[in-house]
Amino acid sequence: MTQEQWGALQDGLCKTVGKSNYTNWIKPLKYKGLDDGVAVFDVPTKFARTYVTQNFGELLLSKVSGMGSGVRRIEFQVSETPPAKAAKPAKAQAPASAADMLTSAPLETRFTFDNFVVGKPNELAHAAARRVAEGGPVTFNPLFLYGGVGLGKTHLMHAISWELRSRNPEMQVLYLSAEQFMYRFVQALRERRMMDFKEMFRSVDVLMVDDVQFIAGKDSTQEEFFHTFNALVDQNKQIIISADRAPDEIKDMENRIRSRLQSGLVVDLHPTDYELRLGILQSRLAQHMAQYPDLSIDRGIIEFLAHRISTNVRVLEGALTRLFAFASLIGRPITMDLTQDCLADVLRASERKVSIEEIQRKVADHYNIRISDLVGPKRVRNFARPRQVAMYLCKQLTSRSLPEIGRKFGGRDHTTVMHGVKRIEDLKVQDGQIAEDLEMLRRTLEA
Ligand code: ADP
Ligand code: MG
Repeated sequence: MTQEQWGALQDGLCKTVGKSNYTNWIKPLKYKGLDDGVAVFDVPTKFARTYVTQNFGELLLSKVSGMGSGVRRIEFQVSETPPAKAAKPAKAQAPASAADMLTSAPLETRFTFDNFVVGKPNELAHAAARRVAEGGPVTFNPLFLYGGVGLGKTHLMHAISWELRSRNPEMQVLYLSAEQFMYRFVQALRERRMMDFKEMFRSVDVLMVDDVQFIAGKDSTQEEFFHTFNALVDQNKQIIISADRAPDEIKDMENRIRSRLQSGLVVDLHPTDYELRLGILQSRLAQHMAQYPDLSIDRGIIEFLAHRISTNVRVLEGALTRLFAFASLIGRPITMDLTQDCLADVLRASERKVSIEEIQRKVADHYNIRISDLVGPKRVRNFARPRQVAMYLCKQLTSRSLPEIGRKFGGRDHTTVMHGVKRIEDLKVQDGQIAEDLEMLRRTLEA
């Protein structure tokens, strides 16, 4: 087949497949020549190759061979690297081509599994993320990760994406925020390219949508997301979703979507505990030491920070960065005084605000009993269990010691408190209801 013959086929092809298909898929094909009965075409992307082969392959072959051109077979070559590559910078403007719709949001190089510190509060989420990142058979779909701000959801999602891509560079892994999903959807609507949009999103191997709470209340986006979601699940493609709260707590989310979100594995990232914060600080330390070789920091100060900055990890990391930069700028060693000076605002902001009294009030409310019964001597289960829950929360959410807590619970001994805390720790894994109660109480107390 000559270039002229290929050119002559265009009008007919356009009529057969329709203008939009023609513009998106056929027109970008570049005929390279005939090689022993094989007509070779360049296609812009790997996705386009798959799509054209599946949808227009036979049609093209029949047209091309039908004109006595000596073509027995057609081969498509990808002329560029795949579109969903890792470090492509974010585009501020509209997606220019169909392939751009499939471009992942940029991934943070630092957000890898290696750099993720695992502790009790995040071990389950981490394990689930690891499993998904192995890229084996899909066992839970979707994986739904949720937790408060700065607890590592985005970090884990990027880590999954890096891992999948390094294991299998061919895989189409699409990571984007729910906001970007909406943006691309709206864009496609405006440009009347919904067909492309649908095809594109249904063609990925793994879809990750970060901060899905964003599309709550945005009806048509939700609707489209739901269809995309279902189509991928039906094809047994892995989906990973994150949100700042559990599926059933996302307001203005349609019920059918909510229940779909819950149909896989739902895991939450708990607020950090002291050990985890310490681990994260230590892991970040090496980098700061390398950057500021003249500075050193006492373990005591690291422990102080881990104790006192209990909000999110981002704040914790920021504090360490600021501390080193500050000390270096003013040319002084990092002392406790300097630390308190430099981080006064952060330390003030993250002072623990939850009091034992508040915990008792909320727990009594929740179980519908009186505070006097909660702290009183009666040992019937209706009071004893909530009491233990309250003790547990006091231990978790305040920096009070066991004897101090005991005193506030009708002058009980610290061993009683210890026993109560232990009991709840055990029940938490055995008894879904208790786990749920704790979760809800913790949220209202920390809100
Ligand atoms: P989220 O998406 O949950 O709001 P991010 O994933 O953006 O939180 O995390 C906020 C910051 O804290 C990031 O810099 C991230 O690297 C860091 N971070 C959070 N959890 C961990 C962890 N377990 N180990 C190391 N860094 C963490
Ligand atoms: Mg995030």
